[in-house]
Amino acid sequence: MAPVFDAKTLRILGLEPLETSPSPPPLSPQPSRKANYAQPSDSEDDMDDKASEDEEIADLAPTQGKGKRKRTADDEGPITEIEVLLDITPVTEMSKPKTKRRIKKMTFHFALDEPWDTMKAQILSQVTKVGGENKKVPPFECCDVLFSVKDSGKTTKLSLTNEADFKTLKDRAAKLPRGKAQIHLFVDEHEEDKQADGAEKENSNGAKGGKRSGAGSKASKQASKVLPVNERKSEFIKQLKEKYYCRLASSVCSSTHCFELTGGKHLPLNFNRLECWATSLLKGDSEESTLEKPPNHSLFDINQASTLKPDILEERQKMLAAKNAPAVAQPIINVHIPQMPSASLQQATNSGNSDQLLPPDRLPGASMPLVAFCQQYELDGDILKKLEEHKFRQVEHLRFTTLPVLEKMGLHFGEVAALQHAVENWSVPRT
Ligand SMILES: [Zn+2]
Repeated sequence: MAPVFDAKTLRILGLEPLETSPSPPPLSPQPSRKANYAQPSDSEDDMDDKASEDEEIADLAPTQGKGKRKRTADDEGPITEIEVLLDITPVTEMSKPKTKRRIKKMTFHFALDEPWDTMKAQILSQVTKVGGENKKVPPFECCDVLFSVKDSGKTTKLSLTNEADFKTLKDRAAKLPRGKAQIHLFVDEHEEDKQADGAEKENSNGAKGGKRSGAGSKASKQASKVLPVNERKSEFIKQLKEKYYCRLASSVCSSTHCFELTGGKHLPLNFNRLECWATSLLKGDSEESTLEKPPNHSLFDINQASTLKPDILEERQKMLAAKNAPAVAQPIINVHIPQMPSASLQQATNSGNSDQLLPPDRLPGASMPLVAFCQQYELDGDILKKLEEHKFRQVEHLRFTTLPVLEKMGLHFGEVAALQHAVENWSVPRT
């Protein structure tokens, strides 16, 4: 979602000039501490360094009353402007280990009577600036912003994500002594969450189909914009449970939640199926799954679902055929032939202790892009980067790889372990 700003804010962002001539926005001084550029910041400790750099800043920022300036009438009364020091971790640095990220230092001045939108625009402007020439303005949602105001020697980092946070910031800043009216922002820029867009698309498709209640779909549409992946998934599971609550007496059907197939047969929606379905819904691909249509996954396939009666697959195929979805109507073949160097292949197939990333007793979970997978299972950006370097794009392809291959790809033991753990959580038991 592109941020919408008023004309003034756009001017601050330097958006129009940026297209042709990159002239600096009026309110933003040039980066003032080039010396610090190449060094990772030590977060709060930095605050102390900054005191000694005040004079340097003052040279570049004549509007800020810094010690040297003669006291005037302007210096009386509450402060109206603060200096904002930023530690920006650009998105390009986020995939590196924390200790190796290069943090960009920027500053700008901010009048305390300016609105929240202006603050956001200023932050985005700085993030865009450190991102290099062709950097586009990221949505504010991609920036994790913390702020600290150093007062009475104690510094705590608070979140700066909404208007209420912004008010806290202003309240704190207003109490700062003159000449020390500084706040410190810590900005981590993330990749845009493509999942959110996808889920939104799914939701609007669902609404268009008219199958879902207007209020519910509106609520989940809003939710998909703000909730992290895990919460969106829980929300989908909740919706599925509500939708597929089994009303049959327990003597007839022992399951609490069932997907009812044509002909009245019940497919129990156990934890794994709900999990799998919800994960698929996260992708927002209505071809693959909707709240009405389970994903084309082995869990919904008779060959893997021992609890099912034999004619259910047939039912499902009929159902899919009826929905005119030829691409997904084919039978699912779960036998996989690992594609890897032949030595590893032999090792993997001969040994009981498989070194497949996906253990032999597990089946792949729902298909999704690696980016989403890493986000969902909170894997380090470094892991994602290495996998992407080797052209892995979809998580389901990981099942063909082995631990030695991962190590060859440059993953450290800890990263391999983290990936194994994530794959274990993502995959589902064979029986
Ligand atoms: Zn049932």
